[in-house]
Amino acid sequence: MDAVQFAAHGDHEVVEYGPSPEPTLDPDDVLLDVRAGALNHLDVWTRRGLPGIDLDFPHVPGSDAAGVVVAVGDAVERFGPGDRVAVTAGRSCGTCEFCRDGEPTLCVNYEILGEHCPGVHAERTAVPADALVPVPEGVDWTTAGAAPLVFGTAWRMLHTRGEIDAGETVLVLGASGGVGHAAVQIADHAGCEVIATASSDEKRATARRLGADLAIDYEAEDFADVVRAETGQRGVDVVVDHVGAATWRQSLRSLANGGRLLTCGATTGPTPETNVNRIFGNQLSVHGSTMAGPGEFDDVLELVWDGTFEVLIRAVLPMSETARGHELLEDREGFGKVVVVPDSEYEGGADE
Ligand SMILES: [Zn+2]
Repeated sequence: MDAVQFAAHGDHEVVEYGPSPEPTLDPDDVLLDVRAGALNHLDVWTRRGLPGIDLDFPHVPGSDAAGVVVAVGDAVERFGPGDRVAVTAGRSCGTCEFCRDGEPTLCVNYEILGEHCPGVHAERTAVPADALVPVPEGVDWTTAGAAPLVFGTAWRMLHTRGEIDAGETVLVLGASGGVGHAAVQIADHAGCEVIATASSDEKRATARRLGADLAIDYEAEDFADVVRAETGQRGVDVVVDHVGAATWRQSLRSLANGGRLLTCGATTGPTPETNVNRIFGNQLSVHGSTMAGPGEFDDVLELVWDGTFEVLIRAVLPMSETARGHELLEDREGFGKVVVVPDSEYEGGADE
């Protein structure tokens, strides 16, 4: 079978698609016929190489996928051949103090499929049954393959970590990205006033269609100035920042007294300058968040499957063009998710 893979870290040109060993099935595993997967910024970081993670090469990347069950290990009872499922990429040990407290994303042995261990961007993949959720008939494969990681991450960040409330004002940076477009919809659905940032008229119009009440051109204006002006100098209750170094100071400056800064990523770099005076003086809180637990995935994906939340797709590519997908993410072209489909399933980009 064929799989996306790379034999060394580097730029997008190291990403190839070609023959890979058939997956082997452990007792707790499910063998999937993959119909669609999606790229995340995590795929870019993993390709470039992350400190402290030594991969076995060639590495098969990919944290998001959906497909049909073709076989199950002896210990699997939840799924059987023919079931439609989507992958949720987090794996926790079940035995550390945090797992035993019911906090799997705090697990000291936490792993993400495609980042710490082999991923799922292949014609077939073996995944632990615990990492799968059912996908109802009628949900298309691009939606099923693209939703889990970004909608799960945004849901946990806003609801579990950020405890957003109806009536609060939430600023979402980078609304055209995967997490960003999920966060706009989740905050709007929770009854919040939503302010988004995006770099083009088209992206800002899309952000407003998804639920943003105001969309700011962050390249033309200092978004913190606009936010303070629009809120009568008060600032917002919550900022969602997955951008990092380039926006951190403005994010802090956008917050009302007592506000919360939520972070789940740092696509422009992880070491911004911080004005500590502003944090203690205005009594701000910084909440980190990563991935989601099984119950959080269930809660948010139910609202994806029933159409409450829309998964926007910027491109559907055959897996042999995954390198091009990395370029789309790195150049911030388009809105929403980049989907990759096994070449043997690909029919010119139309979703079948
Ligand atoms: Zn654990």
